Amino acid sequence: MNSAVELLVVGTSTAEIERIAGKLKTRTGYQLRTASGPVEARARIAACPAERLVVVALRAERRTLALLEPRDGYPRVAMLVLLDRDDTAATVRALNAGAIDVLVESPAVLDRLPGTIDAVLAKWRQRRAEQLAIDYAARFGHILASALTEIYTFDAATLRFIRVNRGARKNIGYSKQELRKMTPLDLKLAPDRERFEELLHPLRAGGQETLRFESVHRRKDGSFYPVEILLQFVRVEPPAFIAVCLDISERKQAEEKLQASEARFRSIFNVAAAGMAILTPYGEVLEVNPAFCAFSGFAAEELIGRNIADVTHPDDREATADYYAALRRGQDPIVQIDKRYLRKDGQVRWGHASVACLSGRDRSETYCIGLVQDITRHKEAEAKRREAYAELDAFVHTVAHDLRTPLTPIIGISEYLQEHAAEVLDRTSLDFLADIEKSGHRMLALLEDLLTLARVGHVRQPSAPVATRRVVDGVLKSLAGPSAGAGIKVEVGELSPLCLPETLVSQLFDNLIGNALRYAGAAGKPIEVGEERRNGQVIFYVRDHGPGIPEEDLGHIFEAFYRGRNARRVNGTGIGLATVRKIARLYHGDAWVEATPGGGSTFKLGFPLAALTGVGNPSA
Ligand code: ADP
Repeated sequence: MNSAVELLVVGTSTAEIERIAGKLKTRTGYQLRTASGPVEARARIAACPAERLVVVALRAERRTLALLEPRDGYPRVAMLVLLDRDDTAATVRALNAGAIDVLVESPAVLDRLPGTIDAVLAKWRQRRAEQLAIDYAARFGHILASALTEIYTFDAATLRFIRVNRGARKNIGYSKQELRKMTPLDLKLAPDRERFEELLHPLRAGGQETLRFESVHRRKDGSFYPVEILLQFVRVEPPAFIAVCLDISERKQAEEKLQASEARFRSIFNVAAAGMAILTPYGEVLEVNPAFCAFSGFAAEELIGRNIADVTHPDDREATADYYAALRRGQDPIVQIDKRYLRKDGQVRWGHASVACLSGRDRSETYCIGLVQDITRHKEAEAKRREAYAELDAFVHTVAHDLRTPLTPIIGISEYLQEHAAEVLDRTSLDFLADIEKSGHRMLALLEDLLTLARVGHVRQPSAPVATRRVVDGVLKSLAGPSAGAGIKVEVGELSPLCLPETLVSQLFDNLIGNALRYAGAAGKPIEVGEERRNGQVIFYVRDHGPGIPEEDLGHIFEAFYRGRNARRVNGTGIGLATVRKIARLYHGDAWVEATPGGGSTFKLGFPLAALTGVGNPSA
């Protein structure tokens, strides 16, 4: 007896229901409910969990039996049918519909009812569980049979295949019939029963649950493919093995590709002339190539595990730590610096280091790869060149300055004589005096220009960018006058401020615009001054539409003292463009000339973008 279980008496005659319910009430401890007709019964069934409900159907009426309509293949409720008399047809109908038991009403039957109801419910539950199991097995079997993964079962004693799923048959190309006569050994490249038995032994012996290994299978057409096999021993009767095989051709191919690219990388790493190192994002050395060992003078074993700071010159350690920190923050994907390394023998070597941070699949796999080029010679040569330039500058400065002193009396006296001794001197002598004065002025101009050229490297850096446009306007004002180019239009576009000393910016544009006015101004079209950006450079230009530069002069006009063929009737010293180029190069830029489309020359000044902010300027 179970008071949690509900007994639902269903019939069509209310009198009948009342009668039976009355009898049941005195005999059972179940919760008793009644329903007159299937509609009411359905509502009750829906309200009570099927596990705690037994329907007592009076008579085997079709409408009442309809309450049994199967759900997912098993009867919806546990039903006991009570007949008022022995009726074979009704009994068969009820049992076929899914009723659990059919009884003929009698006092003895009613007395036994509690036990009967418990049995009915238990039987219904068991039936439903069986049905569920069958459902699952069918569904699972279907999944296994149609899975692309290859699934084999084979007899533990004979090794003959019991079942081979569709995925496997499709891949290996054998039919079900063929496979029935075969064993796993028939799929092996070199069948060796003894070795196979050795493999199976730990599974048979129970020491191991499953076995995972890689192998190669042969298809019916003779082709091979690599597989990963998961093997399991199943203690059923008769005992069998289940093998789940995964075709790993694609994985193998990917692995082989990876190995090939790894091998390529290895060979590059080993033969590269540049030093290479693989490091943690904190600069700890994981691997170095032979070139890096040669560069640093240390053996690979001496470097691995140490920090790159240990082979860095003390003065460059902070900068090195900074760029590793920048890499770790992911701020820059790659950093490049020129730094000094300390060799094992104590020597200092300059290297151009490029370090990139590479991320593996998870953060812990992040590592850095560094490339070092030995630039010691280059740095030494650069230092020597700077020294030589400095000496030359000092020399030119002194000479230009010292030569100016005697020029003043030469010019002054020749002027004085032309004015005061005009009556005592003949025409020829006066012409000579005029020539002396003219040459004196020319020489003075030359010396002024030379001094400018020499001073370029000695000008103080500005603390803030200089408004290029304002400087150009000033230059235009000073150039406007009765001299050559008067009345020529100069169009000035947008010009970015530059972090160069103002006097140098002024000299750049004074020379270029001055030349354009003197050599090309007469052509009528305006001279254009503007700016463009290309390849990480800011490029200022001065474009004229004049005669252009003769081919023969092109390679020389930036040399000091060089004057072109078109300069014969124009005053000049040949130092202007040399000064322009010197200034540009001092600020890591350059000056060059291009032909203006349609005729004329376009002089260009290219600077790295850093020149706009002042980062990387030479310390004057
Ligand atoms: P200078 O003008 O004193 O001769 P520069 O160094 O400024 O010296 O110029 C060198 C030479 O380049 C000039 O003598 C001239 O032949 C040529 N040149 C410079 N600018 C132009 C220009 N805009 N058009 C044609 N030729 C030019």
